Amino acid sequence: MFLFQVPPPTRFDLNFSVAGIRVRVHPLFWVIALLLGTGSTNLLLIAIAIFVIFVSILVHELGHAFAFRRFGQDSYIILHMMGGLAVPESSPYGENVRLTPNQNIFISLAGPIAGFLLALVVILLGIGLGGQLVFSVFFRFLPIPAVVLPYEFGMLDRVFALFVFINFFWGLINLLPVFPLDGGNVARYTLIQTDPINGLRNSLWLSVITGAIIAIAGFVLLGSIYMAFLFGYLAFQSYQALQYRF
Ligand SMILES: [Zn+2]
Repeated sequence: MFLFQVPPPTRFDLNFSVAGIRVRVHPLFWVIALLLGTGSTNLLLIAIAIFVIFVSILVHELGHAFAFRRFGQDSYIILHMMGGLAVPESSPYGENVRLTPNQNIFISLAGPIAGFLLALVVILLGIGLGGQLVFSVFFRFLPIPAVVLPYEFGMLDRVFALFVFINFFWGLINLLPVFPLDGGNVARYTLIQTDPINGLRNSLWLSVITGAIIAIAGFVLLGSIYMAFLFGYLAFQSYQALQYRF
């Protein structure tokens, strides 16, 4: 998911593994989860929001990790301040599996797809339990974080809505062709395949332009300073990469 370098281990890391895949949670992950979770003064809701963010990002990264495994590449997961990362693990012989562009595209798509599947499972569960979730999410509150749903909705509806919001919405945002989001990787490997000489440069320009548009649209249309900053920064990063490499 969201990027950047692998943070060094700390003694406050939480370590566990899922189906043989090592997971390390950096302490600052909880800080960002808390910040994203605080649309509410209700402590229980904040705790639920942190839990939902944790599970959602973990499932997303597990999607990448299982896709890596499918192609014979082990990986481990890090949850950190900017989200999560599935990092290929070097074999005992120090060699990574050489992945084809199509395999890389598959691996990049596997994260958002895992999230969409989780959202689908939660929706079906919500219908099964008779919640108002489906209506509340799809017809009225999609652009608003579920932690600020009005009070006529029960706690369960809020949890479900938050699950769907995060997995569906973040999944879509993650598919935008902006580095280093998953969609940015998909765009890179697609463009490199169609044009081996200019593909990488074109994908960086696509990242700059899309990032700038989303930053402006996020600010003007949604009033989101967070989106403006995030995508403005990513566009700038891609622009710097263009200057540096070409
Ligand atoms: Zn991802």
